[in-house]
Amino acid sequence: MDELHRSLRAYLKHLELLGVEDIPSPSPDPGPEGQLQELKQEVLQCRACPLHRTRRNPVLGEGNPRAILVFVGEAPGAEEDQQGRPFVGKAGELLTRIIKAMGLEREEVYITNVLKCRPPNNRNPRPEEIRACLPFLLRQMEIIKPKLICTLGTFAAQTLLGTQERITSLRGRFHQWRGIKVMPTFHPAFLLRNPAYKRLAWEDVKKIMAEYRRIKGQGP
Ligand code: SF4
Repeated sequence: MDELHRSLRAYLKHLELLGVEDIPSPSPDPGPEGQLQELKQEVLQCRACPLHRTRRNPVLGEGNPRAILVFVGEAPGAEEDQQGRPFVGKAGELLTRIIKAMGLEREEVYITNVLKCRPPNNRNPRPEEIRACLPFLLRQMEIIKPKLICTLGTFAAQTLLGTQERITSLRGRFHQWRGIKVMPTFHPAFLLRNPAYKRLAWEDVKKIMAEYRRIKGQGP
């Protein structure tokens, strides 16, 4: 023990000679919650594409920072831009109903979009906007580490899977992305305009539910 004290004293003397007055304690690991908070601050200050000029509130995402299942949509709409939350308009209500039909709550999953700021008049995202914003989505996925991703609509599926294939041919089966199973399905806003497609979307959702249960150890 004396030896340890001597070494410690010598080390502190060495630091004193170097002019070190304070030994900083190691900063605690912020965990996924803290890391997402830090990312939110970055998004609030982001000026990487012109959408920052027209947005009211950027929308990083919300939900369980350790979610097994993440939903990825296209971009915030008017209501989301107003509230700074994802999927809170009419399409959001439908997504919430879908999540409940899966036997889950919104708080159990994580919901986000490819773009974090609203394109004016809800126009389609531009390739340069997607390029500029994609690092945020990638970091979200690195932090949350989901096992399943459900992409909503064409843009989210094509962006994540790096393809130009249409949603009608991508949906209905799992794809692999960085070791995560990805199920593309229709965007809830599209389903509101085209209710006949709800049956197909439900087929996709049932496959996600089966996989979710399997991961949780509740399924075959
Ligand atoms: Fe930044 Fe993304 Fe908003 Fe563009 S859309 S300003 S890249 S956060």
